[in-house]
Amino acid sequence: MKVLIVNAGSSSLKYQLIDMDTESTLAKGLVEKIGLDMGKLTHKWDGKQFVVEKKIDNHVIATQMMLDALTDPEHGVVKSMDEIGAVGHRVLHGGPNFTESVIVTPEVEAAIEENIPLGPLHNPANLAGIRACREVMPNTPMVAVFDTAFHMTMPPKAYRYGVPKDYYTRLKVRRYGFHGTSHRYVAGRIPEFLGVKPEGLRIINCHLGNGSSICAINSGKCVDTSMGITPLEGLMMGTRCGSMDPAVVQYICNRDHIDVNEMLNICNKKSGLLGISGVSSDMREVAAAAEQGNEDAQIAIDMLVEGIRKYIGAYAAVLHGVDVISFTAGIGENDAALRARVMTGFEFLGAKMDYEKNAKIRGVEADVSAPDSKVRILIIPTNEELAIARDTLALVTAAK
Ligand code: ADP
Repeated sequence: MKVLIVNAGSSSLKYQLIDMDTESTLAKGLVEKIGLDMGKLTHKWDGKQFVVEKKIDNHVIATQMMLDALTDPEHGVVKSMDEIGAVGHRVLHGGPNFTESVIVTPEVEAAIEENIPLGPLHNPANLAGIRACREVMPNTPMVAVFDTAFHMTMPPKAYRYGVPKDYYTRLKVRRYGFHGTSHRYVAGRIPEFLGVKPEGLRIINCHLGNGSSICAINSGKCVDTSMGITPLEGLMMGTRCGSMDPAVVQYICNRDHIDVNEMLNICNKKSGLLGISGVSSDMREVAAAAEQGNEDAQIAIDMLVEGIRKYIGAYAAVLHGVDVISFTAGIGENDAALRARVMTGFEFLGAKMDYEKNAKIRGVEADVSAPDSKVRILIIPTNEELAIARDTLALVTAAK
């Protein structure tokens, strides 16, 4: 079966068509600037690229453009829409409702809608993507895969916040965690890679990309994670501040006469590596600036490294020890210098890196621990699209 993966944002739609017989990507693309004066579709297949620039009024038109590109006689990869057996949608916030992926039904849509207050930017866009696909391909089954679902196995001691219980019962205020599809993919891949059973395996997985989160995993299940009710909590990220005293928000609002929404926008979009370094949210540019002696860029990297190290320490305590520390996503897979700095000084935990080997590894699966290390230090490239496609295939096949 060929499965189409859709990740709809407020003004964009990312897609990927995967042939599940070989688990290979046939084509992928991005429709961007939906609803703006001039939109753009970039379609990639077989090492080639095709671009359309025109005004794209809404997600339905974006979806139609995606299907036109996929079925185009020249640059398409399927003859007709009927070859697409199912669509898997990435959905940000499943709230407390979803512990796993589900076939999209009216009830599922209603629940995604109900969780809009928890994911005000993403959930409406994800719903728009679901509704647009249904309009354009009404007979194709659809599956929703939630970024939060993997984390629903956390115990209350990990997911509750120390605010009055009423906020939890009435407003669902709790830690949800994100990047669940990525953490689940890596947690599933590690025992395969090591040739061991997942039972009893304690993993600390560091997903370090534009957005970053760390997850403590025991026997394949999440027991704690760094992101919270939104993806703002935890590590400092490309543009997000990560955890800090909430009184910082009140203090700045009062001093600068801005409201909490404006301040949270600053915390989400202008902080982190970008806000500290003043250079960029992109780790490569921040690292290059630090290399040239930019002190702010160096502080930004130091803060990120220290933040990761603190979580590894904390999660080793949560898990009563650790068997695997893994790195994934753009920074985790590619930035050998950062990985080396993170792992330096963890020998007391039994984690000893092979620094020479680590320095050579970029974007491929590898064990970079020293032979006498008790803890395996791994690089496992994530593949969220494949994880979504596998769930989609499994659910659609089971429903037949
Ligand atoms: P997203 O969270 O948007 O999926 P990615 O997982 O692609 O992001 O991660 C993007 C981050 O990875 C950026 O900060 C980028 O600079 C960083 N990155 C990519 N390649 C490298 C590299 N070779 N060295 C250092 N950082 C890198």
